[in-house]
Amino acid sequence: MIFDMKKRLAIIGNRMATGRLLDELSRRNAGRMYAITVFGEEPHGCYNRILLGRVLSGGTTDEITLKSPAWYAQNDVTLESGVRVEKVDTVARQLVTTDSETHSYDAVVFATGSAAFIPKIDGLRLAEGTVKPGVFVFRTVADCTAMRAYAHPAASAVVVGGGLLGLEAAKSLCDLGLHVTVLQNSDTLMNAQLDKLGGDMLRRAIEKMGIYVRTGVSTQEVIGDDKATAVRLSDGSVFPAELVVLACGIAPRTEVAKAANVPVKRAIVVNDRMSTAIPGVYAVGECAEHDGKVYGLVEPIWDQCGVLADVLTAANPRARYTGSKVYARLKVVGVEVASMGLTESERDTDEVIQVIEDRKGIYRKLIVRDGKLAGAMLVGSAEAAPVLIQLYDRGDPLPPNRLDVLASPGGGLSGPEAAGPEVCNCHHVTEGALVEAIKGGCTTLPMLSECTKAGTGCGSCRGQLANLLLKHAPRAEAVGANGVAH
Ligand SMILES: Cc1cc2nc3c(=O)[nH]c(=O)nc-3n(C[C@H](O)[C@H](O)[C@H](O)COP(=O)(O)OP(=O)(O)OC[C@H]3O[C@@H](n4cnc5c(N)ncnc54)[C@H](O)[C@@H]3O)c2cc1C
Repeated sequence: MIFDMKKRLAIIGNRMATGRLLDELSRRNAGRMYAITVFGEEPHGCYNRILLGRVLSGGTTDEITLKSPAWYAQNDVTLESGVRVEKVDTVARQLVTTDSETHSYDAVVFATGSAAFIPKIDGLRLAEGTVKPGVFVFRTVADCTAMRAYAHPAASAVVVGGGLLGLEAAKSLCDLGLHVTVLQNSDTLMNAQLDKLGGDMLRRAIEKMGIYVRTGVSTQEVIGDDKATAVRLSDGSVFPAELVVLACGIAPRTEVAKAANVPVKRAIVVNDRMSTAIPGVYAVGECAEHDGKVYGLVEPIWDQCGVLADVLTAANPRARYTGSKVYARLKVVGVEVASMGLTESERDTDEVIQVIEDRKGIYRKLIVRDGKLAGAMLVGSAEAAPVLIQLYDRGDPLPPNRLDVLASPGGGLSGPEAAGPEVCNCHHVTEGALVEAIKGGCTTLPMLSECTKAGTGCGSCRGQLANLLLKHAPRAEAVGANGVAH
């Protein structure tokens, strides 16, 4: 009869926030307290949105799956997949799904994430209101498979938006043999993460790959009667475009919360306990707004899920989310970019250290405040990124010679950092710990991930794990060059 005593926890949305929340709940044995049901509008189990570029380049959904449908069954979680929650009644504590089923809950978590932001551009839709064939966003597996089916070698593509996402989409399309142009409205690529010099260096590297870049331009119209054929800019210039990919930011999915009278500003407003103003209603991930901030990266999601799991299970009554420090890495093969914190100094007392290797296309910049890292960017070589992320995240003091953190593999650090830089930022696993595990017998990628948890978050470090295995394991034939175990 233990089951009858369990509370019902409903989670709306089934992507990275939910995947992580389920892990955090499981770590706290939440299954003893809750009967958990996950409602996911997209089909499939939980997949890694960060790695969608692989699907666009021809990979399968399985390659980026974090939790298969079998995982839910094995972990006593009910999965309602391909089901949208239409309505939540926060007084009756019930929700209604697209298949007209009503489900009661004791606590509900909105993990509804974001949709792609659609800018105001003329000609995006046909007369009857549907999106014009050839116009795409880069957000879901369905978007990627549709784009891939439409794309053909030698076709022309325009990507609107020169941020992280736009560049990743551009590279995948270029790899498929398309002629790609990136249109960026600011003067700098990745302007949220790079200064002008960094953006210029990045532009050179992107153009070397055969991708044409126009910055400081405004996209006015998608031309084409029954499908996209070209794009017109506000200065009148026209670019052929059989494919138009909109990569212009995110729009948090708040429609169901708003209709349920849950307070929403830019996103669903939560306090330090990831709770909304309505009892029993929580929000986490890209649909949540904390202290005026809506994050568009996964690191904050990891922090938020830890706190929410503590709150839901009462494992730590003092758990509070106080905001996250974020960093970004571009995952385009052949161009290394990492950025965190400030991009420009803000105070007279801020120290700025810049190392420019123009010929090599390498640019490194540190902004130091009160002896600590307040910002950093790396273009052309991101070797120092793990050390810098660690320093930035923890607020540790920098060594007196600031350049040490860029030069030596350990970043000139002593103490716990002697364990080497953090390789898996999701689970904070250092290189030293990984080498130790490999020497202790974890000689394949699944074994290493199982033992250390490295590579089981966003998965973007799996290539580094594979390299460590190749270097340190006696026999590493089970690991492919791309970090995928065979
Ligand atoms: C191509 C790409 C590359 C990225 N690369 C990086 C990166 O390198 N580093 C990084 O930190 N971040 C990256 N991001 C951002 C990162 O993926 C997101 O921050 C993260 O996935 C957000 O997770 P989420 O679970 O909050 O929301 P989402 O991933 O948006 O998931 C929400 C889910 O909820 C579902 N849903 C919404 N409403 C309902 C409803 N009413 N009923 C049922 N289901 C519903 C949606 O269909 C969706 O599946 C990238 C994003 C993209 C698209």
